[in-house]
Amino acid sequence: MDEKKRLQFLLLYERLTSALNQPGDADRAEVVAVLSELCELLRVCKGVTEFYKSPSDEKMGRGEVLCDVDYDGPCKIIWQKRVVTKSMAVVKGTIYSTLDEPEHTKEEIDCIDKVERALLCIIAMNRLINAIEELGFNDEVGYPNLKSFYRRIERFYSDGILSKYTTIMFNLRHFGLINEDVGREAGDVVMRNYVRMIEAMIGGDGLVCRMGGDNFVAIFRDEFLESVLEIMRGIPVAYDKESQRRVLVSSSTGVFPIPDNYVYTDSGSVMDKLIPASKAARLLENDFIIFYDEKITKSFDRAKRIQMQFPSALRNREFKVFYQPKVDVNTGRIVGGEALCRWFRNGKIIPPMDFIPILETTTEICKLDFYVLDMVCRDIMRWLAEGREVVRISVNLSRKHLLDVDLFDHILEVIDRNKTPHKYIEIELTETTTDVEFRDLKRVVNGLQNEGISTSVDDFGMGYSSLNLIREIPWNVLKIDKCFLPVDVDNTESVTSMMFKHVVSMAKDIGLECITEGVETKEQVELLKSNDCFIAQGFFFDKPLPVEEFEKKLGTVYEIE
Ligand code: C2E
Ligand code: MG
Ligand code: MG
Repeated sequence: MDEKKRLQFLLLYERLTSALNQPGDADRAEVVAVLSELCELLRVCKGVTEFYKSPSDEKMGRGEVLCDVDYDGPCKIIWQKRVVTKSMAVVKGTIYSTLDEPEHTKEEIDCIDKVERALLCIIAMNRLINAIEELGFNDEVGYPNLKSFYRRIERFYSDGILSKYTTIMFNLRHFGLINEDVGREAGDVVMRNYVRMIEAMIGGDGLVCRMGGDNFVAIFRDEFLESVLEIMRGIPVAYDKESQRRVLVSSSTGVFPIPDNYVYTDSGSVMDKLIPASKAARLLENDFIIFYDEKITKSFDRAKRIQMQFPSALRNREFKVFYQPKVDVNTGRIVGGEALCRWFRNGKIIPPMDFIPILETTTEICKLDFYVLDMVCRDIMRWLAEGREVVRISVNLSRKHLLDVDLFDHILEVIDRNKTPHKYIEIELTETTTDVEFRDLKRVVNGLQNEGISTSVDDFGMGYSSLNLIREIPWNVLKIDKCFLPVDVDNTESVTSMMFKHVVSMAKDIGLECITEGVETKEQVELLKSNDCFIAQGFFFDKPLPVEEFEKKLGTVYEIE
């Protein structure tokens, strides 16, 4: 290189480093302009820089390839360097000249080396800063986190388009059970694939972020809401490519479509709407999609109050067991009773529907159920000691109990601690929603069966009870829900009448005792008789009664006329 070229190089090098060292990002136009001049000076036709976050990414070819000066023709490598940074990122530079270019002098190579080192150093630094910034926006397994959600909201807000979007907060229902069923690793795949399905639905400007565990938030354009809610209601998700095995995944979801007149203060204010809506959704068993409105905050506060008051209420014995007679419609005799819980608080009676669904959102309900079972055992033992005509009493167990692997032992422990003869106890359980629950249910019912403790399917016909439930599990009793009981009993052609008739005859054919709940009128009693369903429970005979009233009725006969 002659003096003139040497000077030219120094000037270009100076321009390059100052363009690279701009605050913020490098001045790209200037960098490209200087590089192309440098290429000409140093007889270079192409320069490629590669950046990988780790050597394994490099091996898999997952990285960034930057080509500042390009050339398509055949060329040869004249300089190459690979640098592994302390954080194990890999930066690689490769410089080419055309095939017919005479060999480079040592001085030229030194100049190329100097330029490339400066480039690699700055590129590595910028990329690492970006990577570190990105890390703050993702959780440890790569889901975007809450910070990403806030960033996206801020962006839509500053673009003035926030009200075109809907936000949701969702929790995967029974994900613990899914994990238990398919295994933790496959559970991770289920979660990932479920999120991917949502991502595929909501397009590029939508975003799904994980808040931790199986809790997520998402933002997407309003027009995707219906399709997203479909996924929330339940969708089969494959977790094993080969066998194509699938599980049904659904979510409890709080929804907040951002309104046109929304006064945005900060991204946290959106969370203030989503949190109560999604909590309310988790509280509800059947409708697990809840749109935000002001009332939710109130019912949410009420639920919180009930949860807080529950432990002391249980200690102070504020819960009382009421008994509703089950009556033989032919003889009028009491053949059984159902234990139903009432909460006496400050002189008022709180009905079970006002607190049981709330307690069922945690495992607190189990404490209450065992308390009721214990009270029932004590009452039975007292009745026996008093020489009363004792009947079998059924106790409701929430589905939440199925999470308890030792459920069967726990039930038995309470009954045997009270020395209550097994034949006087019946356990009522409702239908299940997942395969895992079904399996556990089967195990528990079998266990109880072996101990001579009766079991019944409660609310049959409501919700999701399937015929499989009664085919595969050895129940003793089918409790037909009042929704099957025709109101207009004269219309024997109505679908309800037909179904009632056939459900009763099916139950009898498979050898199940059959009882109808919610019998309120004489006509309904007649209908039971004519369909050979001989046991009834309902207001026609009695409401659930305080124990002192119920025990007086033991051994008495109801008049049916
Ligand atoms: P369930 O087990 O299906 O109980 C029957 C419900 O129907 C009772 O409501 C009863 O009062 C009501 N009922 C009885 N006869 C009639 C009638 O002729 N007409 C109408 N319309 N209703 C009738 P209750 O006592 O309010 O209990 C509601 C639900 O709360 C129960 O439904 C049960 O699922 C739950 N529950 C009550 N006590 C307990 C408990 O100790 N543990 C658990 N896990 N759940 C309980
Ligand atoms: Mg019941
Ligand atoms: Mg029922």
